[in-house]
Amino acid sequence: MLLLTSSACSHSPAPTPPKSGLQPQTEASKAATSPALSGRWWRDDVFYEIFVRSFADSDGDGVGDFNGLTARLDTLNDGDPNTHGDLGINGIWLMPIHPSPSYHGYDVTDYRAVNPAYGTMADFERFLAEAHKRGIKVIIDFVLNHSAKDHPWFKDAMASKTAKHRGWYTFRDAPDPRWKRPWDGGQVWHKTRTEEYYYGLFWSGMPDVNLSNPDAAEAMVSAMEFWLSKGVDGFRVDAVRHLFESEAGTLVDQPESHAFMKAARKRLATKYPDALLVAEAWTDSQTVAEYFGDHGDEFQLAFSFDAGGAMVTAAKDGLKVTMAQFTQTANEAYSDRGFEAPFLTNHDMPRVMRQLKGDAAAARVSAATLLAQPGTPFLYYGEEIGMQGGASSKDEDKRTPMRWTADAGYGFSTGKPWHEADEAEGVDLKSQRKDPNSLWRLYRDLIRLRQESPALSDGRAEALPITGGGRGTFALLRQQGSERVLFVANYHREAAASFSLKLAGTPEVQLQEGLGKVASEGGVLTIEDIGPQGFALIQLR
Ligand code: CA
Repeated sequence: MLLLTSSACSHSPAPTPPKSGLQPQTEASKAATSPALSGRWWRDDVFYEIFVRSFADSDGDGVGDFNGLTARLDTLNDGDPNTHGDLGINGIWLMPIHPSPSYHGYDVTDYRAVNPAYGTMADFERFLAEAHKRGIKVIIDFVLNHSAKDHPWFKDAMASKTAKHRGWYTFRDAPDPRWKRPWDGGQVWHKTRTEEYYYGLFWSGMPDVNLSNPDAAEAMVSAMEFWLSKGVDGFRVDAVRHLFESEAGTLVDQPESHAFMKAARKRLATKYPDALLVAEAWTDSQTVAEYFGDHGDEFQLAFSFDAGGAMVTAAKDGLKVTMAQFTQTANEAYSDRGFEAPFLTNHDMPRVMRQLKGDAAAARVSAATLLAQPGTPFLYYGEEIGMQGGASSKDEDKRTPMRWTADAGYGFSTGKPWHEADEAEGVDLKSQRKDPNSLWRLYRDLIRLRQESPALSDGRAEALPITGGGRGTFALLRQQGSERVLFVANYHREAAASFSLKLAGTPEVQLQEGLGKVASEGGVLTIEDIGPQGFALIQLR
């Protein structure tokens, strides 16, 4: 792909020096390691997904903004490892921050500006500097596949067949090619006033950008460089399965999509070797793994949708089977488990606590399962306090305002929040920080344990065979060098019978709920009693 060679860089902004937060070891490793996975700073991180509109409103207009977010950063990570009033995450993914006609922002009208409802560019830069100061990296959503139909590029393209931006989108003369949207069979060609059709996979308001057009591709990739030059640490790239289409109407996983992303990654890495690209490829593990390219030369991380499904299903059904199957599938699909980004739910799904129908113990065992997974876990804002979101299946109900307090406005806004956020009593951060048994405290403790443990943050993963136990008992060994941590869980809503594992070493329980006696003898680890929905992290020395 010629357009993405370094000679095409001439119009890109010069890189600015890193903002205050880039740590010295990252800079050092940048020089020492190969460009394919330079630094790998994300390997020890736990990310937190934020919908800016719903996180914290600083000016009372009911809409979350950058200044509100900056003011609450200390609750996420105050930068001091000796304090424990913060959750301890060290990565943030911001859902789209660009100007957009929609509330969610996935239809962008300017890739180099911020949504005025969220604040100014200076507000964003201040947020970024304050995040970095606390050791928090920031990635932003980048929507490569399509623009808004209100984007000046598309307006120009619609003006005439000879318009400058005509080739930046895909038009066809009648008749409608009648391609079908892969997930629901919906129409993807939309009629213009002049009886032609343009291609927009998601809906008519989101025309797909034609990334095979060198100028369009250059505009997109140089916009990514623009954000990296501001100090952003990388991107969550939306809808990567759909970047290119075949002439025959195959709309997913085209070789051109992989080639484009490899070229984009190479281009971005020339100036920004530590820039992280995270793929949103909503599909099975085998297909997700293709987006890693050759050992991370395409995306360095990709969301593991199978992991989320397996973890939530195990907690919901009380059975280990999905976890055992997922672990085996992932070990086969991924050459290195470190490339996956496991998560329970995201902004496109009913929240985990809603799927679990408010079962607090199920939420706890699923939290522990998530933080025991290999890769780089992502946590959707509000998940850590057990928010359920609204009851309808509308997307807005999956993205309701953060519950900071139980007061009117939820501590989110002094005005009228853009959306209501009714939740059960105790589902707010203020109560949960005080309550020693809260879900928030469990997340905080799990995050800290994970970050202190090379085995948990970066080790390989193996589901161990169990003798005894029951249909809910699951054991995952995480290992890095000589460090070993065993995660055991009983997803069932009844206590499990005693069980044993072939595993040598002296067990030291680091964190547990409902665990009975643990004993080790002759290379066999025995667990007598693990309560309903109990779990433990056990270090083996
Ligand atoms: Ca506001």
